[in-house]
Amino acid sequence: MLRPFEIHEPATVAEASRLLARLGEQAAVYAGGTELLLLMKEGLAHFPHLVNIKTIGGLDAIAFEDGVLRLGAVATHREIETSPAARQHAPLVARVASQVGNLRVRAAGTIGGNLCFAEPHSDPAAVLVAWDATLVLARAGGERCVPAAGFFLGMLQTAREPDEILTAVEVRPLPPGTGAAYHRFALHERPTAAVAAVVTVRDGAVAAARVVVGSVGPVPVRVPEAEDALAGRRPEGEVLRAAAEVAGRRADVLEDMFTSTEYKRHLVSLLAARALHDAVSAARTAH
Ligand SMILES: Cc1cc2nc3c(=O)[nH]c(=O)nc-3n(C[C@H](O)[C@H](O)[C@H](O)COP(=O)(O)OP(=O)(O)OC[C@H]3O[C@@H](n4cnc5c(N)ncnc54)[C@H](O)[C@@H]3O)c2cc1C
Repeated sequence: MLRPFEIHEPATVAEASRLLARLGEQAAVYAGGTELLLLMKEGLAHFPHLVNIKTIGGLDAIAFEDGVLRLGAVATHREIETSPAARQHAPLVARVASQVGNLRVRAAGTIGGNLCFAEPHSDPAAVLVAWDATLVLARAGGERCVPAAGFFLGMLQTAREPDEILTAVEVRPLPPGTGAAYHRFALHERPTAAVAAVVTVRDGAVAAARVVVGSVGPVPVRVPEAEDALAGRRPEGEVLRAAAEVAGRRADVLEDMFTSTEYKRHLVSLLAARALHDAVSAARTAH
């Protein structure tokens, strides 16, 4: 049962940030509420004050400007999935939004809420770390940019300060010769294991690779050993298989009551093989 709370409806980010600073631990940012209200209903958290940031004009905008796709933090997964700008400039980011949970979650849940909650089984988080996206955090005094890889500090923990609002996610189109792919395996709605890969192929060899494993550990992380196994090599058969196997072996995997560590490592290797295969195929046709 939900205990009573007061909803604040700030008109600007600065106003929202000042409210958060003043109310401290009594307040939480409220966007789609798909995670927050569930926690509160189950009595796992209680905030007497919710700061609704959906009332702030422009925070839901999705636009491509000056070579950057900017996803407003309160854009829902559904809005990203159907956005012509996202589909054109970062098709994988749009596709991943379409894989989140179910239609009800996608229609209410926002990209900002997904990232700020830092639940380990996040689809967008793994892709945005692999893509090297930038998160924009703002407070009354100004704003700062944080690379996606530096944002997730642990399970449900991020680099966001309590009075900061995540205002946008910035995604640059991939450089020429670069392809990206994401594969997930889900027993329920949220993924059990996932791998995102971004690979640049130049003169037939791997010039750069980012391999990120998500959902099996506390945060999505790159696996440098898998990336090293690809560097400078022709991305074919045995090379891709070896890198995928390393990704499974070296991934940061947490034990849980449903799935054994060994099984998760096996899943990661399979998903990495698929993601690398698809990223390399996309890279070969990306000009
Ligand atoms: C049934 C179900 C299935 C799901 N399946 C998936 C799945 O398959 N893949 C997946 O990735 N996710 C999944 N999710 C998670 C879903 O993506 C998130 O619930 C949603 O995106 C969270 O956004 P929200 O706007 O509802 O966040 P809220 O619930 O409003 O907020 C979540 C947290 O983030 C904070 N917050 C929100 N926005 C901001 C901001 N802009 N700045 C600072 N702090 C902020 C809030 O204070 C709160 O702590 C699922 C959730 C449910 C309930």
